[in-house]
Amino acid sequence: LGRQCSVCEHPDRRDVEQRLTAGETLASIAASTGLNRMALSRHRRDHSPIWLSKVTQVSERSSGTVRERIEALVARIENVMSDAEVGRRASVVLQAARELRMSLETLGKLTGELDERPTTVVNVVESQEWREVQTALLGALAPFPQAKLAVVAALAPLGAS
Ligand SMILES: [Zn+2]
Repeated sequence: LGRQCSVCEHPDRRDVEQRLTAGETLASIAASTGLNRMALSRHRRDHSPIWLSKVTQVSERSSGTVRERIEALVARIENVMSDAEVGRRASVVLQAARELRMSLETLGKLTGELDERPTTVVNVVESQEWREVQTALLGALAPFPQAKLAVVAALAPLGAS
């Protein structure tokens, strides 16, 4: 791993790694370390374990149910996203966001939150409970005709009769 890579072999590799993570430009890092920009670019693409390892190793390391593992994965991806956001690494953020969305979708299906069947719209006005409330309300307002009229007027747009 990292053979013949001047960045990997650089004595200040950790420092370079951190600056890459932080989103510092290759030109700037190259200028202060004497490293080659192409080498930095290649290293970042091929050797930099910054975020890929965080994301991909989760499923192998974690134990537990599928749901627990996905939840762990989501947490890790969120960490990666905030790291990447701090470093303004847009492509990493987008990639992590995509991972996150897929993981959340899977999790949602597992937990039933993303049940794809159409949800039933409950029409309160049509319900038996509502009719009872309405009857009780209007009954209680019987001694107060003006208030009763006001309530009836307020309920009219809801389709109450
Ligand atoms: Zn390297």
